[in-house]
Amino acid sequence: MNQTTMRRPLIAGNWKMNGSVAANALLLDGIRAGASGLAADLAVCVPAPYLAQAQAALSGSAVAWGGQDLSLHESGAFTGEVSGAMLRDFGCQFVIVGHSERRSLHGETDTIVADKARQALACGLTPIVCVGETLEEREAGQTDTVVSRQLRAVLAVLGQQLGKIVIAYEPVWAIGTGKTATPEMAQQVHAHLRALLVGVDPDAGSGVRLLYGGSMKPDNAHDLLAMDDIDGGLIGGASLKVGDFLAIAKSA
Ligand code: PEP
Repeated sequence: MNQTTMRRPLIAGNWKMNGSVAANALLLDGIRAGASGLAADLAVCVPAPYLAQAQAALSGSAVAWGGQDLSLHESGAFTGEVSGAMLRDFGCQFVIVGHSERRSLHGETDTIVADKARQALACGLTPIVCVGETLEEREAGQTDTVVSRQLRAVLAVLGQQLGKIVIAYEPVWAIGTGKTATPEMAQQVHAHLRALLVGVDPDAGSGVRLLYGGSMKPDNAHDLLAMDDIDGGLIGGASLKVGDFLAIAKSA
């Protein structure tokens, strides 16, 4: 955590399309049991069918929960979609927006991601907005250009609400691959994102939490989280194991 700005770390799990009622019960109970007294906020973003289970298991605990996506629309003929109001109905505090798997597998453009971030805020949810470059983009020296474009699209629709979002830098080549950005590589991108945010609004921009995501594990979390502008993690695979998730949270 950056001591000067006092951003409280956030460790958020992205379960993706994993889980079962039985497996979730063990995971949620274990996380709840280990969550008190940590220096970080904790959250789990679960598949929509398990929101009621997460709400029942985590209500009154130090652990928040959220969705992994939301619809651009409020209600109506959008088969298969889940609205922000529905997420709020189940007590969600967070929703992931613009995960690279949504961008690459579901055709979500920067504009769609920005509109989803705005819709999340309109519903009283905190969007965890994901940005990140592919391996090809990194090798072509385009990392800063790509993440700037992705972030600027969101900033353009936020108005005065900049201070209400969370951003996750997730290099696509590091997600689920076991390849992690080094702390220095991640910090360089986080510093770039921070400068963009502060350029828009110095006060709000310096308070926005910037998470790192991409194969964060107990053995690399400490060094990543020690960097000035890395204020937490968005954790995929390791969030499915109680011990690993809590170990990462304890590193924060
Ligand atoms: C993610 O899906 O957001 C992610 C960071 O996954 P993993 O930790 O498995 O790389």
